[in-house]
Amino acid sequence: MLKNAKTKLAIVLIITGLIGILSIGITTILILENITLEANIETIKQSILKIEIILGIIAIIYVVLSILIGILISKKIIEPSEELINAAEENVKEVSMQKKQMETMLLHMTDGILAFDMNGKISLTNPAATRLLRIMPEDDTFDKIFGKYNINVNLEKVIYLENWTSTAQRVAIGDNYIYIFFAPLRNEDETPNGVIVVIQDITEHVKLDNMRKEFVADVSHELKTPITSIMGYADTLLEGEYDKETQEKFLNVIATEARRMAKLVTDLLTLSKYDNDEDRTRKVEFDLGELVKACQEKLQIEIQKKKHNVECFVTANIPSVYADKDGIERVVLNIITNSIKYTQEKGTIKMYVGYIYNDAYIKIIDNGLGIPEEDLNRIFDRFYRVDKSRTREMGGTGLGLSIAKEILDKNNGSIDIKSKKEQGTEVVIRIPIKK
Ligand code: ADP
Repeated sequence: MLKNAKTKLAIVLIITGLIGILSIGITTILILENITLEANIETIKQSILKIEIILGIIAIIYVVLSILIGILISKKIIEPSEELINAAEENVKEVSMQKKQMETMLLHMTDGILAFDMNGKISLTNPAATRLLRIMPEDDTFDKIFGKYNINVNLEKVIYLENWTSTAQRVAIGDNYIYIFFAPLRNEDETPNGVIVVIQDITEHVKLDNMRKEFVADVSHELKTPITSIMGYADTLLEGEYDKETQEKFLNVIATEARRMAKLVTDLLTLSKYDNDEDRTRKVEFDLGELVKACQEKLQIEIQKKKHNVECFVTANIPSVYADKDGIERVVLNIITNSIKYTQEKGTIKMYVGYIYNDAYIKIIDNGLGIPEEDLNRIFDRFYRVDKSRTREMGGTGLGLSIAKEILDKNNGSIDIKSKKEQGTEVVIRIPIKK
């Protein structure tokens, strides 16, 4: 366009130039024709002057005309063309930037995206889609990709879906759960142009949902057992005449079961408190050695009942720790209680308090029943007990260690358990030292 304009301008200037030269020629000839042989110097001079004046006028007209034509052409053609070219260049830049943005988005998106043309051939894909649907290089059509899974969707069905509607399917691929949305792709005039598929990984979501369901089932089950006992014994007592001894026996069962329910509810409340209160644990500076000794004092009656030999060794000069003191006390009480409960009478329980680098630690070692290896990685799960009937008998809820782990996580600490069946258990708790 611009080149064209330049040529036009050159042609116009050449033509005006030619007209100018032509007029000069004609005028010169006309004037020279008037000069006769008899003409004197004066007349010749006059004629030359005339020629000069005419030449001057023509030159001025030529210059003025050229300027006017130049201005006109640049206003009418060149400027708009330049604007057009600039705008087009901008557009190209923007489009390529948008393309780049789109590519980056597709590359890093956690959701998978696939597009298919009307023949079901793949026209666009991103790494997430390849990973989630396990697409192989040879899988290049709708049928090859989705034929592997049990999905009752086909290309035609999606292409001719109503406007703005989509269809979705949930599938399990290996250990993963994915959600697949299918939507028709349309041209500007609304004619079908293919299919867009969005793939979401919902594995975590499904797992959490299952955990929640399991948790509700566990809680109901845990509450149901003591309630059944309480109701059974209470009804028996109400219905018959029993001697004092039997009555006492039944009432004892009722009281024990009620206490267990109360403990379960307290533990559940504690768990939910730690689940919800992200940062509201009140941290203070305290001495871990003193806390462990105080916990041992509190459990003296239980220790004496089982005639255990308990020793506590505290390293000198342990720096203070900075943590939620009530929470840590709860953890220590739970670990010592476990050692007391799961160790036969006259057992040995040793406790060590010390520090390494930036952590203070408590090590509690018993020579009790121990935990079988296959149960070790599950003991931090909510409600997990190694021997259900035995532990329940001992008043355990199976929540103690999961609460302990939760509390230590919130305090940037850790808990590790080593154990050998029938030999004993070693629990190590670490808590950061105040800097
Ligand atoms: P519980 O309230 O039932 O004691 P915990 O979460 O504290 O629940 O413990 C989970 C399970 O781990 C217990 O039921 C028990 O079987 C096992 N366990 C914990 N500590 C010990 C230990 N010191 N010795 C043997 N088994 C233990």
